[in-house]
Amino acid sequence: MIVFAVNAGSSSLKFQLLDMPKETVLASGVVERIGFDDAIFSIKYNDQRHKEIKKIKTHKVAVSLLLERLISLEILGNLDEIEGIGHRVVHGGELFSDSVIIDQNVIDGIESVSDLAPLHNPANLTGILAFQEALPNVPAVAVFDTAFHQTMEPTEYMYSLPYEWYEKYGVRKYGFHGTSHKYVSQRAAKMLGKTPEETKVIVCHIGNGASLCAVKEGKSIDTSMGFTPLAGIAMGTRSGDIDPAIVQYISKKEDKSLDQVMEELNKRSGYLGLSELSSDSRDLWQAVERGDKKSILAVEKQAKMIADYIGAYYLLLEGCDAICFTAGIGENASETRKLVVDRLKALGVQLDIKKNLVRGKETVISTDESNIDVLLIPTNEEVMIARDTVRLTK
Ligand code: AMP
Repeated sequence: MIVFAVNAGSSSLKFQLLDMPKETVLASGVVERIGFDDAIFSIKYNDQRHKEIKKIKTHKVAVSLLLERLISLEILGNLDEIEGIGHRVVHGGELFSDSVIIDQNVIDGIESVSDLAPLHNPANLTGILAFQEALPNVPAVAVFDTAFHQTMEPTEYMYSLPYEWYEKYGVRKYGFHGTSHKYVSQRAAKMLGKTPEETKVIVCHIGNGASLCAVKEGKSIDTSMGFTPLAGIAMGTRSGDIDPAIVQYISKKEDKSLDQVMEELNKRSGYLGLSELSSDSRDLWQAVERGDKKSILAVEKQAKMIADYIGAYYLLLEGCDAICFTAGIGENASETRKLVVDRLKALGVQLDIKKNLVRGKETVISTDESNIDVLLIPTNEEVMIARDTVRLTK
């Protein structure tokens, strides 16, 4: 069964075409700068690459081009071979605790929670509608970033704020990166030789956006992102947890609107804010080697925040079988993994310095003596989207 895994952004469309249940990737790529005269379509297939720069006005045009190229590049003989389309959707609010087959009700539901993710949900919907128009008879599935965290208890997801804000406006912790946390926690159980129901793991998804998740018996019981993806640990450009009173204070001092200060918290904080250099982990580690003090502070601050969450989740889980690192930084930056684990001595966690040098490969990176296994697990959100698409459409 051939299925698409699609991630539509406001001006981009990422895709993978997978052959299921083998989980082999037939093609993958992205259309970038949709809406511009110099949009870029790039696709990888069969060890080959194809790239075009041309005017692509809308997502609908991007999808038509993609489908045309699947045929002209002989990736597929016929579009009828496509039997399912899985769409990543950022926010499912409290409406969606699992993936669902997309119908008009689901589209209305995604729209109804768009206030909670105004930059993402409308873009995701544009992708859904573009594929619906191009392939009206192919079943489509929505896979939500928030769904995995719907198993949290009120003590975890409620803020200590006026209760009516939750009732009237849905102010609560939702959590994000759920598809990644679910995938990695399932792989972790496999690596431990157990079922997810028998395991307690902490997943550290550390990319440009970053969040941790405490997973008990296969279910998310707490996560570090909150009402929005701004909460939790320091990220590439996002602050993570701060005292909210800072927002008002800076707004007055710098004569900025609340929106402007929030923009600074989202776009000019985290790695970028502290280092005053870059939001990219590779740039920061190069600067650390040169002894750049602000870059050292930026990476150490993030590691401290990650370790603090691990400590809290260890207590919440009442023990832990594995700490897993994933996403761009988690999979590649051995230096960050070391900084974090150095702070976990009280838990008896020991990193194997040599094994920790590995990048992007599923492997154990702790010593045999370590109290908790430390695992490196490359994430694969597309495969989870494809699996759910098969599960719901077969
Ligand atoms: P993501 O959002 O998961 O794509 O992760 C992006 C982050 O991963 C950026 O900060 C990159 O600098 C970082 N990253 C990717 N490759 C490496 C690498 N080889 N070493 C350090 N950081 C990396």
